[in-house]
Amino acid sequence: MKNNIRQFCFPTSVAEAARLLSRAKGKVLVVAGGTRLTRNISPQVEIVADISDVPLKHIKADKKWLKIGALCTFDEMEKSPLLAKWACGVIAQTAAFVSNAPARHMGTVGGNVVRPHPLNNLPAVFLALDAVAVATDGRKEKSFPFAEILKPEVMREFGSKYLLTEIRVPAVTKSWSAATDRLAATKTDWEAWANCVVVGAKKDGRCLDVRIVLGAVLPRATRMAEAEACLLGQPCDESAAWAAGFAVTAELQRLTNASEAKAYACEVAGVLARRVVIAAFQD
Ligand SMILES: Cc1cc2nc3c(=O)[nH]c(=O)nc-3n(C[C@H](O)[C@H](O)[C@H](O)COP(=O)(O)OP(=O)(O)OC[C@H]3O[C@@H](n4cnc5c(N)ncnc54)[C@H](O)[C@@H]3O)c2cc1C
Repeated sequence: MKNNIRQFCFPTSVAEAARLLSRAKGKVLVVAGGTRLTRNISPQVEIVADISDVPLKHIKADKKWLKIGALCTFDEMEKSPLLAKWACGVIAQTAAFVSNAPARHMGTVGGNVVRPHPLNNLPAVFLALDAVAVATDGRKEKSFPFAEILKPEVMREFGSKYLLTEIRVPAVTKSWSAATDRLAATKTDWEAWANCVVVGAKKDGRCLDVRIVLGAVLPRATRMAEAEACLLGQPCDESAAWAAGFAVTAELQRLTNASEAKAYACEVAGVLARRVVIAAFQD
């Protein structure tokens, strides 16, 4: 393979990395954990910027946000005591789903969310938790609602215009009910038929606020609005969970244009969603 790489850089601060991106527009390839780098590097790329020395490995919280540095690995998230307590540990559990040890130890949260392959685990949990992605272009910081960065046209700007620095999750979600699960042939299969995350708040046995996010079935993690509507204001019981499960299947069938190739995934996603709703809201 021919490429035009002339320089390897190892920035040690956010400012230095972001400066590099803005000075050499379109000519820089950012490398974090290096587990998802393209095999066909664009011929425009002249500089490889290995950002692994940039201090973005924090997991901390203040009054407003839980803050996860872009260079945290799946392993660090899985083992974080703070994440174990946040929203029933749903972020830590999601990180633990990652299929194999090398990917868990090297892959970063930043690389997972800025190039969200449909099978990637983390976009669904951050979408469910109303997270924002914080990035810099070297001049100013910008916050993107999570649904925004999943759009291809916005995603393309990460690693070319923007350096992702942090994921922020609203502090209010710390005490929310939550659960997640995935359905795949084996535990070590990255390829799942469906991933599901359910988070929400309940009061007096009723669902006050709820997000149901499905991954793996559609090109990107997606909130299931009709299924969420089945739960809002309803008692958190099995019959509401069954209704939500049927709504997930119907919504996915519509969103996939009843594609035969996706028929099985739509069906099992409904079953998975029902189980995850029950797990999230059970006492
Ligand atoms: C065998 C194998 C199994 C896998 N299994 C799973 C799995 O089960 N679940 C799962 O979710 N994923 C899985 N992955 C995918 C992969 O490990 C993740 O997507 C990982 O999080 C990518 O992170 P990285 O740091 O390695 O990214 P890199 O490869 O370093 O970068 C990926 C892309 O993101 C850009 N980028 C990275 N960080 C930033 C940043 N801070 N700002 C701007 N741009 C940035 C880079 O420029 C590059 O274009 C697997 C991968 C492999 C190879």
